[in-house]
Amino acid sequence: MGDFYETLGVSKNADAREIKSAYRKVAMKYHPDKNPGDTVAEEKFKEAAEAYSVLSDNQKRAQYDQFGHAAFNNQGGGGGGFHHMDLNDIFDHFGDIFGSSGFSDFFGGSRRGRRSGPARGSDLKITISLTLEEIFSGVDKTVKIKRFEHCASCDGSGAAAGSQPMVCPACEGAGEVRQVQRSFLGQIVNVQPCHQCHGNGQVISNPCRPCSGKGVEKKTATVALEIPAGVSSGNYMTRPGEGNHSGKGGAPGDLIIYFEEKDHPLFTRDGIDIYLNCWIQYPHAVFGTSIEVPTLAGKVNLKVPAGIRSGQVLRLRGKGMQELNRGRQGDQLVRINIETPQKVSKKAKVLMENLSEELTDKVNFEKFR
Ligand SMILES: [Zn+2]
Ligand SMILES: [Zn+2]
Repeated sequence: MGDFYETLGVSKNADAREIKSAYRKVAMKYHPDKNPGDTVAEEKFKEAAEAYSVLSDNQKRAQYDQFGHAAFNNQGGGGGGFHHMDLNDIFDHFGDIFGSSGFSDFFGGSRRGRRSGPARGSDLKITISLTLEEIFSGVDKTVKIKRFEHCASCDGSGAAAGSQPMVCPACEGAGEVRQVQRSFLGQIVNVQPCHQCHGNGQVISNPCRPCSGKGVEKKTATVALEIPAGVSSGNYMTRPGEGNHSGKGGAPGDLIIYFEEKDHPLFTRDGIDIYLNCWIQYPHAVFGTSIEVPTLAGKVNLKVPAGIRSGQVLRLRGKGMQELNRGRQGDQLVRINIETPQKVSKKAKVLMENLSEELTDKVNFEKFR
């Protein structure tokens, strides 16, 4: 057995992403579907899976770096080892890392999904815009979506009224085709999903007109959603089985709802904290005051201490956003600024002139921040 890093062709300090991508490359090269009957390729494919199972797990990787293969050789029952893993185990464990590479047809798709029946319906993605108030309290929403559902005319079968789907002549209803190849090792049986019926086991000779034999049609559906408090832009929730239905008996896809936060006219959100700017008059800054401050939970009183400087930030504990799925509550932070009046009354003008004479006209400088 070779060095795991060499098996995957990565350096000893490769990061998780490099290891994953290297494994994907090696696994694609030696995949048994691409190398039918080639036992050397199969062995390399297994070795790559073993290397990946160790190097993709931080704890196992650390053990391997320290002890080498010995780290996994004597763990009773082969718990840490990989030697007795057969191909199906490998697909079960690592099939999903190929999800977005187009390799899933190979790995997840033809091996597991399709062969076990008709194709699953596709996922449906929607985005919902929420105000900060809705996010703060959590909200129930009813949304209308357009999705593929079973065709009413043929009840999803895809066959025209009065006709029935027929057993697929190519695979005789099995949904898969077995090809027997001869090699120096003997017979190799290669199983593929049937191309004529795409794994359904049935074909339609007289297709339903409204759905052209697909078994599904676009419909508008209403979905009720309970959106929890504290979601952020980019968060999503999944409603299993609420996506597009597939024709001919496949499982429906999922509905994935993404959230998007609307800009608020007053508040700025940063995680669970809320920020607000506030302007007070100069005498209030000198003597201190109590002001009423809007928060997402309603108005609250805030004590402004005497002598506060412009730009100082006061904290209203627990008046921010609730953390999603946790009890923690954020704060509201209020930045106090001192207002310079643009227009003043006659009385105020006299008072300010007196004040101006009273105060020294000293100017201070400090570093710009
Ligand atoms: Zn139909
Ligand atoms: Zn078939």
